[in-house]
Amino acid sequence: MQFAADAMLGRLARWLRLSGYSVYYSRTSSDEDLLKRAMKQGLVLLTRDGALAGRAEKLGIRVVLIHSTDVEEQLLQLADELGLRYECTPVRALCPLCNGPLVEVEKEDVRGKLPAGVVESVDTFYRCSRCGKYYWHGTHWKNIAQRVERIGGRLQASREG
Ligand SMILES: [Zn+2]
Repeated sequence: MQFAADAMLGRLARWLRLSGYSVYYSRTSSDEDLLKRAMKQGLVLLTRDGALAGRAEKLGIRVVLIHSTDVEEQLLQLADELGLRYECTPVRALCPLCNGPLVEVEKEDVRGKLPAGVVESVDTFYRCSRCGKYYWHGTHWKNIAQRVERIGGRLQASREG
């Protein structure tokens, strides 16, 4: 399942990408652009705009009208309505910044490009094959993974309760 998100959903787009879901997102995309892309590429449209959702439905585009402004609530809504699952590993993730696929790179490739302390203390690095940004299992990734886990935990709780 692949998505197009409206300009108000930048944070949601980044979180979905981290869980491996492809999301077309641009801060400057117009409604027409979103509708055209969703139609052509079979994307599920995510929007906070009721009027846009209505237009999409008339065109036969699958659309989810997002209720909350809180990103965790938004993720929970998508889990409920579309059955999305969130799991955050660099192997599965897409680049949160540009939606590009991450590829594993050797320690030698990052030497001189990242702080020496990081290069020495981390074994596996990933590079976005589109924008070139580096990622690795470190504090930052751990924080992200923990947040994703927390959302997963809330999901479990809301299903049981
Ligand atoms: Zn990227």
